[in-house]
Amino acid sequence: MSLRFQIEGNAGNARAGRLITPHGEVETPVFMPVGTVASVKGVPQDVLEELGVQILLGNTYHLYLRPGVETVRLLGGLHGFMAWPRAILTDSGGFQVFSLNDLRKVTEEGVTFRSHLDGSTHFFSPESAMEAQIGLGADIIMAFDECTEYPADRDRARASMDLTLRWAERSKKYFEKHKHEAPWASTEHVGTAAPGCPAERSSAGLSPAGSRTLNSATGSRAGEGARATQSLFGIIQGGMDRELRRESAERTMEIGFPGYAIGGLSVGEPRELTREIVESTLEHLPADQPRYLMGVGTPEEIVEYAALGVDMMDCVLPTRAARHGLLFTSEGKVSIKQARYAQDQGALDPNCACRVCRRYSRAYLRHLYAANEVLAQVLNTIHNLSFYLDTMRRVRHSIQLGEESRFLSNVWSRPKP
Ligand SMILES: [Zn+2]
Repeated sequence: MSLRFQIEGNAGNARAGRLITPHGEVETPVFMPVGTVASVKGVPQDVLEELGVQILLGNTYHLYLRPGVETVRLLGGLHGFMAWPRAILTDSGGFQVFSLNDLRKVTEEGVTFRSHLDGSTHFFSPESAMEAQIGLGADIIMAFDECTEYPADRDRARASMDLTLRWAERSKKYFEKHKHEAPWASTEHVGTAAPGCPAERSSAGLSPAGSRTLNSATGSRAGEGARATQSLFGIIQGGMDRELRRESAERTMEIGFPGYAIGGLSVGEPRELTREIVESTLEHLPADQPRYLMGVGTPEEIVEYAALGVDMMDCVLPTRAARHGLLFTSEGKVSIKQARYAQDQGALDPNCACRVCRRYSRAYLRHLYAANEVLAQVLNTIHNLSFYLDTMRRVRHSIQLGEESRFLSNVWSRPKP
């Protein structure tokens, strides 16, 4: 048993639950900050822990190119390398290969692509993408898929979906054979800290509570538990075609995975279409397994998708927008670069209790941004992440109270200071 998912509350289609991984528990629905190259740009790991981040996302494509999988593996996998004792998910590399490479070449075997760093040629197949993700050692890894472009006609979407299904089978086959080779899996038993894992050095290592739950999950006592391994999720494709999405879901479930992701969305299609495809795809996914919607979205959207029954989401938006001075607040978006904030003594968001809003004025944040200070990126990112995480905490609370009808309004009605 390497992953367990338990649902603890429902409100309409929404579910609140708990994902138990070899590196701790994750409360769902969860927003996963993106740490592209083993770093959430501008925010140290101890601050992420303090913000309550329970799971981070790493990008296989970027880590494969720099510093390289072998380096990360030798240093204990991502957990050891970046000193992050909590859960990690890596993507398969497929999305970046497709979005960052105009010169890619796709065959049945895999994808040939050029590095965006130095132009060198590389090849990803389902097998090599699994090998890379096993070396990186995230708790949850993703099958290698082709992200269908938008727009795509039905024949193209079907061919792409079929390819993704064949790649999913190959991904699973390779993974099942090699899943005990993760940097921590060979020696770690469920419920004990892994060598190379910085848990003992960290103030927030595997908690005693987490260890207990992991042990009870396998019904074993510490020291004699089953071996923990990584878990591989399948990815649903099918373009913007509801029928293809249904078929992709059914055939991916036939292959069989402990969790399912909806991929190929937020690729330029209108928002209403994203929502429609998400909603119709969710109907075909098993109710008792985690559902991961890849690459979304705004604060309003993540609330909406959680209401539809999505358990996991990730997006670069809060961190990337922060670096461009775009901040999400309970009163709407704030572009901190604007001159109107030059002498504004107020907090960035009067309803936010994050360390940035408690301490600094809009005027100061505006000054840091205008002066191009590194601190601007750090503080802006911390606030935006806080806002997203806080939003998801409200969503979970609301679901646990079973407040279906007032779900959205509840999340957004913030206490006045
Ligand atoms: Zn704040």
